Amino acid sequence: MKFISISQPVLEGNEAKYIQECLRTNWISSQGKFVKRFEKAFAGYCGVKYGVANSNGTTALHLALLALGIKAGDEVIVPDLTFASPVNAVVYVGARPVFVDVDKETWNIDTTKIEKALTSRTKAIIVVHLYGRPCQMRPILKLAKKHHLFIIEDCAEAHGAQYHGKKVGSFGEISCFSFYGNKIITTGEGGMCLTNNKNLAEKMRILLNHGMDPNKKYWHKQVGFNYRLTNLQAAVGLAQLEKINWLLNKRTKIANLYNYLLKDIPGITVVKPEPRTRLVCWMYSILVDPKISRVDRNQLMATLKKNNIETRPLFYPLHQMPPYKKYVKKGQAFKAAQYLSVRGLSLPSGGNLTSKEVRYIAGTVIKMVKG
Ligand SMILES: *Cc1c(COP(=O)(O)O)cnc(C)c1O
Repeated sequence: MKFISISQPVLEGNEAKYIQECLRTNWISSQGKFVKRFEKAFAGYCGVKYGVANSNGTTALHLALLALGIKAGDEVIVPDLTFASPVNAVVYVGARPVFVDVDKETWNIDTTKIEKALTSRTKAIIVVHLYGRPCQMRPILKLAKKHHLFIIEDCAEAHGAQYHGKKVGSFGEISCFSFYGNKIITTGEGGMCLTNNKNLAEKMRILLNHGMDPNKKYWHKQVGFNYRLTNLQAAVGLAQLEKINWLLNKRTKIANLYNYLLKDIPGITVVKPEPRTRLVCWMYSILVDPKISRVDRNQLMATLKKNNIETRPLFYPLHQMPPYKKYVKKGQAFKAAQYLSVRGLSLPSGGNLTSKEVRYIAGTVIKMVKG
């Protein structure tokens, strides 16, 4: 078997044609029609009014926090198990991240533990729809309303996922997407903020373009950033969006086949569907129980690597890592995050993966786990 990568983009639609158009017309920087078209189309796809394209998922989170006025002295709730980008963004604005443990079943923020972590300084909750699984937005929205908190959705891993019939990204004040190369749709590097609030959208537009007055060139009302997306990137994004349903279906088929092959293997836990929720398969992830399986997670990953299969461990809990340890509050425990982090791994799940490859990967996993 040739090398099977964890995820590869599928770029076989209008990507090349749209990029050619940028080159032919000279619109290769951040001006040009593809940026506007991509913003409009992606916001429309998610059922949100305004899309604000920017450099990547992390700049999107930074802009969201700035636009909502989160600053030094404020606290922001983030799940302990996530890619580190949202907590970094909280630190950029000088606020304090407050970690909350995740749920062992859904892997997402444990909604029963949020209230205990709130103080008079808490201003917002960043919910992360981890591995394409929507968070429990009903209780979270209720809590936010009760305590006057902003919700920022980190949807970097969940393009197209739905909760109670609505797309993720349509629940918070602002939602943030990444279009990095391994995400469900990609622009190479890229990001977008969505919001229904015109004022917030305008604030973010100014911030991402140096803080410059949109009606008075070179006049700055505030310190801003250059977080612009290029027309070339947006051209790729628009072509990707045209086939997002195909991409999502392809990944669902891959996940279903993995589930079918792995669900009854002792020592392996697969992700279960949740009621009234559409999961999307960003990465296909499983848990390996070291008490039942012949090999533990790390040994399994090493063997898969020898068999030319690329994998990823689940994220490390934030509270354990050097730059974030200092934010842990006394008496806080993160049992579920720790439990999942040592057991979880992601298997290849790119849109190009064939069912033959999925069978080969699952077969190799089963051989190792069963012994
Ligand atoms: C990928 C990712 C991001 C950051 O995206 P970049 O575009 O790489 O900055 C943020 N949050 C989560 C949960 C991610 O998976």
